[in-house]
Amino acid sequence: MDLERALADVVGARHALEDPELRASYERDWTGRFGGPARVVVRPADTAEVAEIVRLCAAAGAAIVPQGGNTGLVGAGVPRNGEVLLSLARLDGIGEVDAALGQVTVGAGATLAALQAACSHAGQDAGLDDAARDSCTIGGVVACDAGGARALRHGTARAHVVGLEAVLADGSTVSRLSGLSKDNAGYDLPQLLVGSEGTLGIITAVRWRTTSALGARVAALVPVASTQAAAALLRALRAEAPSLDSCDFFLDEGMQLVLEQQRRASPLSQRAPVYVLAECAARTDPTDELAAALARAGIEDALIADDTRSREGLWRLREGHTEAIGHLGVPHKLDVGIPLAELGRFLEQVPRVVADAVDGARTILFGHLSDGNVHVNVVGPDPEDERADDAVLGLALACGGTISAEHGVGVAKARWLERARGADEVGAMRAIKRALDPAGLLNPGAVLPSAGWSVLGGLGRRP
Ligand SMILES: Cc1cc2nc3c(=O)[nH]c(=O)nc-3n(C[C@H](O)[C@H](O)[C@H](O)COP(=O)(O)OP(=O)(O)OC[C@H]3O[C@@H](n4cnc5c(N)ncnc54)[C@H](O)[C@@H]3O)c2cc1C
Repeated sequence: MDLERALADVVGARHALEDPELRASYERDWTGRFGGPARVVVRPADTAEVAEIVRLCAAAGAAIVPQGGNTGLVGAGVPRNGEVLLSLARLDGIGEVDAALGQVTVGAGATLAALQAACSHAGQDAGLDDAARDSCTIGGVVACDAGGARALRHGTARAHVVGLEAVLADGSTVSRLSGLSKDNAGYDLPQLLVGSEGTLGIITAVRWRTTSALGARVAALVPVASTQAAAALLRALRAEAPSLDSCDFFLDEGMQLVLEQQRRASPLSQRAPVYVLAECAARTDPTDELAAALARAGIEDALIADDTRSREGLWRLREGHTEAIGHLGVPHKLDVGIPLAELGRFLEQVPRVVADAVDGARTILFGHLSDGNVHVNVVGPDPEDERADDAVLGLALACGGTISAEHGVGVAKARWLERARGADEVGAMRAIKRALDPAGLLNPGAVLPSAGWSVLGGLGRRP
C-alpha cells in the first residue's frame, strides 16, 4: 500500500488532504516568503494517530514537517521539499485548570487565545501573549520557545513548561504530564524539545504553568527623543515600578504606517522619534505606581490608558505593525536580541547597513524593549535575496547579540547558526539530532542546515 493510502487509513480520508486546493493554506507561511507543495497534509485526532503516522513515515523514509497554527515567521512550519505536512490543529483539548497548583494540561493544537480564556475563567493567567494569539498553538509556541511582550515578567514559553508529551522520530511516545514541579529523574527531555522547532519530536500535549491573574492593569504610551532615552526609561521603570509587566517600543515610521493602515489618528498630540509602550499589572490599581515611576524618570508627556478599551487601543498600535508591514510587500523578518547597552548603536546602524546591502530596501523596526528584542523588517528585496538578512544578522552579532530572540532559527537563519553558536556547540546539537532522529526525517533543514549548505569564511553561503 502506498504511504498516502496508509496515512488516510490512520486519520480517515477527510483528514488526509491530497487535493491541492485543500492543501494550499498549509503550504504557504504567514509572511508569504516560504513554502512549497506537501506530499500530503495529515490531520490526526490524538497522540496515538500521531505515533502511527510517524511510524509509517519512518518506515517509508518520508520526511515530516509538523505544523500548528502556521504563524511562525522563519519558514519552518511549511513544507519545502514535498514533505508530509503533519497538522496538530485537531489536538486542541484543554484540561481543567488547577488554580491551586497553577497548572493545566493543554493539547498541542489548542490556540494561545483558548488557553488564555481557560486560565482567565479559573482566575489564572497563562503568562504569555503575542499578537498571533488567535491562531498560534501551544505546540508551536513551545516548539519555538516563543516570548512575546510579557517575557519580561513571566519568561518565555520555556518557563511555562512543567512537562510535555511528544512522539519521537521512531514513533515512540514520551510523556511527562504528571505535573510534578520537582522531578529530576534523568535527562530533562521536555526542556530539550522546547525551542527544537519540530526537529527532535512532535509535541502532542503540554503541562503548562499558570500564574494568578492580576486584575488591575494600566498602560502608558510614552514619546521619547531617542532609543537611548527609551533604554533609560526602561531602566527607570524596572527600578521604580515592580508591577511592570511589559515594555515594548516602535519608531515613528512604523507608527505612521500603522495609523495609515488602521485609518486612525494618533492618540498623541505630537510625533516623536521613538515610542515606548509600557504596561503594569497588579492586584490593586497600579496607575499611581506607573505615574510616579514616569515622573521620577523625568517624563512629562505620556498617554495613560487605565481601562481595557483604551489599553487595547494602544496595543493595536504596536501589534498592528506586523500586518501593516505585510501590506508593503513580502517582508524579510529578522528577530534579533541585542544587549541593552548596544541597542542604540544597533538601531541607528541597521537601516544604513540594509540600504548599503540592497538598493532601495526599507527597514521598519519595533520590538520588546525589555528583552533587547528587535524585530527588523526589511521590505524591498526579493524573497530569495538574502543580502539584507546577512547584513542585519552580521550587525546583531557584531553588537554582541543573537540571531534569534524568540521566533526561532527555522530555515530562514539555519545557515547562520554556526557563526552565532560556534562549531563546537553546533557539533553537539548535530549529535543530539542524530541520536533522536538518525534518519533526519523530522523537519529537515530547519535549525541545523541540511547537507548542501556550508559555512565559508564564517559566513554561510550556498556552495
Ligand atoms: C502577527 C504575529 C505576531 C507574532 N508575535 C510574536 C511574539 O510577540 N513573540 C513570539 O515569540 N513570536 C511571535 N510570533 C511568531 C510565533 O513564532 C508564533 O506566533 C508561534 O510561536 C508559532 O505557533 P504556531 O502554532 O503558529 O506554529 P507554526 O507556525 O505552525 O510552527 C512553528 C514551528 O514550530 C513547529 N511546530 C509547530 N507545532 C509543533 C508541534 N506540535 N510539535 C513540534 N513542532 C511543532 C513547526 O514545525 C515550526 O518549526 C508572531 C507571529 C505573528 C504572525
